[in-house]
Amino acid sequence: MQNEKLKEINEQASYCLNCKAKPCSNKGCPLGNNIPVFIEQVKLGDLKKAYEILSDTTVLPGICGRICPHKKQCQGSCVRGIKGEPVSIGELESFIFDNISEEDSLKNCYKEEIKENKNNKKIAVVGGGPAGLTAAAFLARNGFQVTIYEKYDYLGGLLVHGIPEFRLEKEIVEKTVQKILKLGIDVKYNQELGKNLYLQDLENQYDAIFLGIGANKSSKMDVKRRKLKRSNSEEMNF
Ligand code: SF4
Repeated sequence: MQNEKLKEINEQASYCLNCKAKPCSNKGCPLGNNIPVFIEQVKLGDLKKAYEILSDTTVLPGICGRICPHKKQCQGSCVRGIKGEPVSIGELESFIFDNISEEDSLKNCYKEEIKENKNNKKIAVVGGGPAGLTAAAFLARNGFQVTIYEKYDYLGGLLVHGIPEFRLEKEIVEKTVQKILKLGIDVKYNQELGKNLYLQDLENQYDAIFLGIGANKSSKMDVKRRKLKRSNSEEMNF
């Protein structure tokens, strides 16, 4: 890790006031991530512990750290932002995920809590995008036997095909997916609801079904001449 980057991260972490009221978490974070507590661990140089704290409330820290609207959420509620710049919470969150090792899995974080299939219940999760992955991970960590049914031949959904590489690197999505799958989640690819996958069949096999099929229909821009022809054969359709 470059010294310059480490120095910058330590400065950011030290800039946090460790506020007791923690508005960044309580008001600004929809997940309720324990922000000052994970930042404290960054200050102490214990990224594994920081990851464990984050993992209490999220299984997508490398992704949320990059694409959440921080200015509106956690950083928008940061006390430091009242008179100056807020703490770079998103950057700290990404930094933690980017620098934990392969061994620092979600399962290791929850070693004490996970008892393999302690509920003896099977759950089908339809859709392997962010909602499905999150539901699957939290269910698996709580001892349910989870199978994800995914339409494509990869997991991640919109995180993969809806967000460009410069905003969210595919490598980060893949690292996240691998950590989630290590919880013992089964995946069945190329399974599309209504085509080769039916709710009735799932109801017969599972105790519960989580539908995380997303909202993939894009909307058209409401602009005049949106159907102008670019050439004789091509139609522009925004
Ligand atoms: S509000 Fe800002 S300064 Fe206070 S604990 Fe949260 S991140 Fe730190």
